[in-house]
Amino acid sequence: MTMDAHDLSGRPIVIGAGIAGMMTALALAPEPVVLLTKAPLGAEASSMLAQGGMAASLGTDDSPAFHLADTLAAGDGLCDPVTAKRIVEAAPAAIEMLERLGVAFDRTPAGTMRLGLEAAHSRRRIVHAAGDATGAELVRALAVAVRRTPSITVVEGMEARRLLIEDNAIAGVLTVGTSGNTVLLTGKVVLATGGVGGLFHDTTNPLGSFGQGLVLAARAGAVLSDLEFVQFHPTALDGPTRPMRLISEAVRGEGAVLIDENGFRFLSDLPGGELATRDAVARGVFRHLAKGHRVFLDARETPGANFAARFPAIAGFCHEAGLDPASEPIPVRPAAHYHMGGIAVDEAGRSSLDGLWACGEVAATGLHGANRLASNSLTEAVVMAGWVAASVAETAAGGRRSPTVASPRRPDPSSVRPIVSRALGVERNGDELRAAIAALLPLALNQDAGSDPAVVGLMMAVSALQRQDSRGAHYRADFPQKAAVARRSFISFDKAIDFARKLPDEFPMQLARSA
Ligand SMILES: Cc1cc2nc3c(=O)[nH]c(=O)nc-3n(C[C@H](O)[C@H](O)[C@H](O)COP(=O)(O)OP(=O)(O)OC[C@H]3O[C@@H](n4cnc5c(N)ncnc54)[C@H](O)[C@@H]3O)c2cc1C
Repeated sequence: MTMDAHDLSGRPIVIGAGIAGMMTALALAPEPVVLLTKAPLGAEASSMLAQGGMAASLGTDDSPAFHLADTLAAGDGLCDPVTAKRIVEAAPAAIEMLERLGVAFDRTPAGTMRLGLEAAHSRRRIVHAAGDATGAELVRALAVAVRRTPSITVVEGMEARRLLIEDNAIAGVLTVGTSGNTVLLTGKVVLATGGVGGLFHDTTNPLGSFGQGLVLAARAGAVLSDLEFVQFHPTALDGPTRPMRLISEAVRGEGAVLIDENGFRFLSDLPGGELATRDAVARGVFRHLAKGHRVFLDARETPGANFAARFPAIAGFCHEAGLDPASEPIPVRPAAHYHMGGIAVDEAGRSSLDGLWACGEVAATGLHGANRLASNSLTEAVVMAGWVAASVAETAAGGRRSPTVASPRRPDPSSVRPIVSRALGVERNGDELRAAIAALLPLALNQDAGSDPAVVGLMMAVSALQRQDSRGAHYRADFPQKAAVARRSFISFDKAIDFARKLPDEFPMQLARSA
């Protein structure tokens, strides 16, 4: 599109057009806002791929208190209970608002909301759309609403490469599109850039999700939190396709079980079995694979013949891979799926940097703790978007000059992926993390295409090395116990670089061994 940057100057800029970005822009209306995204609206976004649905306590046997208890239990001691309570209490109203915006959730013939069950939920509370295509329906409806809203200027095909800072506050965004570099001056930026799965070989995320928002915030000086916590989904379709296709937990919720090549149900002793928390199931699958077994999701008995009716999208891509889930087991393996960590934000989504907010997967609100409860992320994005928008609207925009900044190269995570995949997977250990830090530091300090992804990997590896216990999704083979006291971790760009620079002096033996 043609765009005159001067016309847009001064407006708040939302970067990223998944659920979080679109909802923030909509909630800001009628205040003028720029919604900037490197892909078309909703494309290259995890939001589009969401299957299971959104968690909200809508059932007659449910309440926000039950939802909160399940969220805190999954978060393994690391959730912020005040934030978690606010968000789950707001969830039912968020579903109503989405319906008003045109989202068609699945309903029973009697007209009540169909509620699915997912791992670690004590009640049926997963609202879904088109069976297992919840994300696609949300994106469809919200994209229509965004395009109909005159106060939102949509800028597609433009990538944010740097945040401009003046007097320790946001002054603008350096963007790159087909017509070159553009500086958009603004005192208010909302990052809604999604997760980090694209830093891993095995991931369910779009490959363009490699933590660009985290680098933008970190290089600008913002504090990040809990970066070591990456959720691995236990049941990604094991095949060559990237991103890996996800076999939603809802399939296990409907009765499918995990077996190996001998038909052995190897998780039957795990408390909660196949519906234990994601971290526990992912570790169980990872360890069974590491012993040389293959792992399958067996849906032949339940949902069996009903599979395609209940899970049409999953049945579709199983068929594409030459599999009929109603009659044969589906090969699966764990894949990087969701980042609990992110830009540290308060209850209104404000970061530590004046003029910078974050919403959606790129933010760390404290809701998910050490392990996200399934289907809580879309709910969090929608609920927080309203609070972020209110905070943006009530914040006065300072006048900004245009600070100069060099334009960095187009980021490419391919040199970083092997390092991150090896050191920051389902099970970590100190030697591999130290080796990863040593390999990532020079990449992060270079000014080339691997530099930004390396900064993200480095901050994650430093956080993972510093957490010397196992909790939720972070498992250290060399520290398998949980620390008595749960503490969130906080890191900045400078601290990560400083720690990495000093590491060889502190751990010369380990580095020499792993080099
Ligand atoms: C396969 C799959 C299934 C899932 N299922 C569920 C589910 O059932 N329920 C649930 O709650 N959660 C689910 N999740 C997680 C959930 O979908 C995500 O956490 C959520 O959609 C993230 O939304 P977001 O708006 O924060 O980010 P995204 O939807 O990933 O959007 C990020 C946006 O930022 C843009 N962007 C990134 N960097 C830049 C840049 N530098 N400049 C400009 N634009 C940029 C991208 O192009 C994109 O538009 C699932 C995730 C996956 C991958």
